[in-house]
Amino acid sequence: MRKFSKVSASVLTLGLLTACVYQQSDDQSTSYDREIAAATKTATGADAAARIKSDVAYLADDAREGREAGSAGYEQAARYVAARMENIGLQPGGENGWYQQVPLRAGVTRQDKVEMSVTTADGETKLLANLEDFRLFPSLGRVSFELSAPAVFIGYGVHAPEAGHDDFDGLDLNGKIVVFFSGAPTSFESEQRTHFGSSALTRKEAAMRGAIGSITLLTTSRVKRAPWERLVANPQRASKTWVGPDGKADISGSEIVGSAVLSMDASSMLFAGSKRSFKEVLAEADAKGGAPKGFDLPVTVSMKGVLDITDVTSPNVIGIIPGSDPVLKDEYVVLSAHLDHIGVNESLQKEGKDGINNGALDNAMGVATMLEAAKRMVEEGPLKRSVIILAVTGEESGLLGADYFAHFPAVPIDSIVADVNLDMPLVLHSFTDVIAFGAEHSSLGGIVKAAAKQAGVTLSPDPIPEQGLFTRSDHYRFVEKGVPSVFLVTGFENGGEEKFQEFLTTHYHKPSDDTGLPILYGDAARFADVNYEIARAIANAPARPTWNEGDFFGELFASE
Ligand SMILES: [Zn+2]
Repeated sequence: MRKFSKVSASVLTLGLLTACVYQQSDDQSTSYDREIAAATKTATGADAAARIKSDVAYLADDAREGREAGSAGYEQAARYVAARMENIGLQPGGENGWYQQVPLRAGVTRQDKVEMSVTTADGETKLLANLEDFRLFPSLGRVSFELSAPAVFIGYGVHAPEAGHDDFDGLDLNGKIVVFFSGAPTSFESEQRTHFGSSALTRKEAAMRGAIGSITLLTTSRVKRAPWERLVANPQRASKTWVGPDGKADISGSEIVGSAVLSMDASSMLFAGSKRSFKEVLAEADAKGGAPKGFDLPVTVSMKGVLDITDVTSPNVIGIIPGSDPVLKDEYVVLSAHLDHIGVNESLQKEGKDGINNGALDNAMGVATMLEAAKRMVEEGPLKRSVIILAVTGEESGLLGADYFAHFPAVPIDSIVADVNLDMPLVLHSFTDVIAFGAEHSSLGGIVKAAAKQAGVTLSPDPIPEQGLFTRSDHYRFVEKGVPSVFLVTGFENGGEEKFQEFLTTHYHKPSDDTGLPILYGDAARFADVNYEIARAIANAPARPTWNEGDFFGELFASE
């Protein structure tokens, strides 16, 4: 599952990049293939629980090095999944075989070259401390940038005139650095709040109005969810985006060349001498439904940054189960699960600790249960619609593999009737219910409810709507293309809530998310059953799923 804060980049064209595409030598390939063949064989002979266990064991092995998109460990994981798909009896759905190669641009900020300062109206300049006061996110569009411009506060930076809210109204952003609170006002319903609270969306809107830089401020609730230490952890980790067939990197708000996030302590500097203090606007932003109005800040902000940029490719792995109905076979149900994870934490390794983020539950388990559901589809006879089994790359870097697939799908996007996404199914308790984030937005809700019953579990409503999880994993890239989708996980009943909270605080995105956890593989097999029943119900239904009448997401993305 993807992290909360994503300060993603903006793009410009650049000619200075040297391509460095990941390649393996033939010797290595042979030994990987032997290993994969052995692991695949283990998976084949066993029962469902043992197969899932064996898949998770391979994918979450230390040798996969945390499966970061573009890494050798990810490449091995992708080969393994392709071998398993072949062995299950799927048909390859990639460009030339099982893979859709996703070109990725990765940029690591040179922490020794970062500078930021604030100059007040009376000419006093204060230098800010890197990673203590701020963290810089240069645009992936250029290798270096230097920026000095007046700042303008734009509240939460939300442009939602249809909801009667427009933070940009009446402000001149041309040639300025926009300063805005992370998130969106609590007056928005939780999922809409997550949508409008995206800082990438704010930057896109600001760039359209002439802004050239952006600074994110933190609210109290934001800091509670993710403390500053977590925001500045792993500064060597690359930001990534995909590069289209035209060679252009995908960056929203590309005119914004530099972005930063400021610590709460440093934020008051920007408001020095202004009509309202940071304390005042923060109190308003923190208040229920609060939404401070924007105004010009009497300061000039300077930022400077350099990126080490590399281009890599990393594959989505695609298998197809052809449908049996002469007409409906041209429609596709997508089952998706991300295969990548967050790689290795070098800081931990330097301290002599285990730094490999194995991602056993996030999301080797999602991939393994997806493969098991696919196996049942093949074995239990044909479904009317065709099914695409999609293991995607780059989820942890911003849903990149899914976004690339949604932009350049293996089949026409209009022929995709639904996506059912599996991300981080926690099988640490004997679950009796499942949650399908997004179920209330489309006719998928009813289908999932009936299918869950068929598999012997109940469908529960979203127990944590404030987290807006519907917008946080790969299926959302399908939603943005108008495809009704759900994101399926195990439920909170029968002790699930405690396990969920414990996992989030103790193991989520940490090396301890590994096979040492007390994973219940029998329950994982049951989860695969639920997933199978859902896919079967969608694939065999007379009509394709539809968005509910007047649904926010259905209407927002209807024209896409
Ligand atoms: Zn994750």
